Amino acid sequence: MNEEKKSLNFIEQIIEEDLAKGLSKDKLRFRFPPEPNGYLHIGHAASICLNFGLGLKYNAPVNLRFDDTNPAKEEQEYVDSIKHDVQWLGFKWDKELYSSDYFQQLFDWAVMLIKEGKAYVDNQTSEQMAIQKGTPTEAGTDSPNRNRTVEENLDLFFKMKNGEFDEGSHVLRAKIDMAHTNMHMRDPIMYRILKKHHHRTGNDWCIYPMYDWTHGESDYIEQVSHSICTLEFKSHRDLYDWYVNQVYDENLLRPKQREFARRNLSYTVMSKRKLLQLVQEGIVAGWDDPRMPTISGLRRRGYTPESIRNFSEVAGIAKRDNVTDVALLEYCVRDHLNKTAPRVMAVLDPVKLIITNYPEGKDEWLTAENNQEDESAGFREVPFSREIYIEKEDFKEEANKKFFRLSIGKEVRLKNAYIIKAENCVKDENGEITEIYCTYDKDSRSGSGTEASKRRVKGTLHWVSIKHAETAEVRVYDRLFTHEAPDTFKDKNFKEFLNPNSLNIINAYVEPSLKSAKVLDRFQFQRLGYFCVDQDSSKDKLIFNRTVPLRDSWAKMNK
Ligand code: ATP
Ligand code: MG
Repeated sequence: MNEEKKSLNFIEQIIEEDLAKGLSKDKLRFRFPPEPNGYLHIGHAASICLNFGLGLKYNAPVNLRFDDTNPAKEEQEYVDSIKHDVQWLGFKWDKELYSSDYFQQLFDWAVMLIKEGKAYVDNQTSEQMAIQKGTPTEAGTDSPNRNRTVEENLDLFFKMKNGEFDEGSHVLRAKIDMAHTNMHMRDPIMYRILKKHHHRTGNDWCIYPMYDWTHGESDYIEQVSHSICTLEFKSHRDLYDWYVNQVYDENLLRPKQREFARRNLSYTVMSKRKLLQLVQEGIVAGWDDPRMPTISGLRRRGYTPESIRNFSEVAGIAKRDNVTDVALLEYCVRDHLNKTAPRVMAVLDPVKLIITNYPEGKDEWLTAENNQEDESAGFREVPFSREIYIEKEDFKEEANKKFFRLSIGKEVRLKNAYIIKAENCVKDENGEITEIYCTYDKDSRSGSGTEASKRRVKGTLHWVSIKHAETAEVRVYDRLFTHEAPDTFKDKNFKEFLNPNSLNIINAYVEPSLKSAKVLDRFQFQRLGYFCVDQDSSKDKLIFNRTVPLRDSWAKMNK
């Protein structure tokens, strides 16, 4: 019992307390409320995993509610991408809902508030209203329009709705308290005029409800029991409750807003406004550029839904702002791909190696294990021949004892194949090695059972047979920013920290089994890292994205 208590996060503790106080379990209901003004990112994943995770834990429905009250920024493209991303992460929503579905209800309630003397139309400039707002330590002053009659307010509000006024000329405000210690309670704006086309309601409306007025009422309409949002809304909670109280019927459930800290990730930015800027200015190739912290970018990069869910779980939810190290996210994907990704061989920076005592014209198809971590992954055949590519950095003409790769007079094993010994090499006029000549021990083939096959040599190298290799474009990514918190400087734009080397395009050689790889297939390129087939890949041109490099790659292979 104690054990279980300890592992509850603080939101779960709040829910447990509410259940203990008599809230019926079948009243639990949650929602994930994205604004369709951009693509979802890894921060949203925290909220998605939290809300849908609660749904699974308590067997309660979770709505996907689009918070679409700002027609200027919202688009169907974003709605579609959000739905795809939530599904891809592995979650099922109960209902797909839109705040815009409640525009009429919200309007009717606003009329009710006007009739009750709790809302009024203000036609001052926003500057005037800002001055009257006061400061956290000084009370505000009442608007000269605060005491209009109900009739006058109704007349003006209907004129606002009917498009008789210009944008920015009139607003509807809740009449709460201009001296309230919480600034959000000083007669907040409920409606503004926006003569814009809405992605769902078209031109039906030219007044749109503000976030605070919409959010609590939408939760109430949907009977969401726990409305979980991020910390910046904590100070809005009084207003959330005030609005709900105006329409609350005691036979229904009163939704409860609770806050948790945003997920921030090192070496990136997470604000949709800034991500949009990167897209619009062409700094990245789109919302799904594999360097973006978006779900679609991570998917294209090769991340699995499991790894993102696991990251959300391991990183946990906090009550205070903090930054999660991107290395944890990388750890999570490496961990999952280590268990699931088939192993293949690819050479990214090739140098030619010729095995002089291997018969010319001979081919051999060697058996290779697909994944030593997963027996069910089976085996494949890899072609071997006299001329192969290895990585340039795996050969040094002369090397000290700590170099466990190939050098003149030393032996290494070729993965899944033979033990070879370097005899000499050829260099160009710049001293660059262009060809390496080796001999092989013909009895040493891996798995052949001979004494020679069991012989231990210090290093193992990956390789591809030149004759059989496929060429592939490999996109190697680095962090998009050079600073771990690029958008925390008051005097510097976050773009000053863009990493000029965040994308490196390499022409590589890969084993022929990859010819049939499909978009989004993920592999471990042995000794190099995890790679995923990019959506730009085609039958004629294979393209891979590097998801993450292998950590400790040398140490691991040379065990
Ligand atoms: P932005 O301010 O960048 O436009 P947002 O937070 O307003 O983003 P929404 O679409 O409104 O984005 O967010 C939907 C839900 O996801 C909200 O409940 C919000 O609190 C949550 N959320 C957004 N960003 C994060 C984050 N970085 N970490 C955790 N939850 C987040
Ligand atoms: Mg928001």
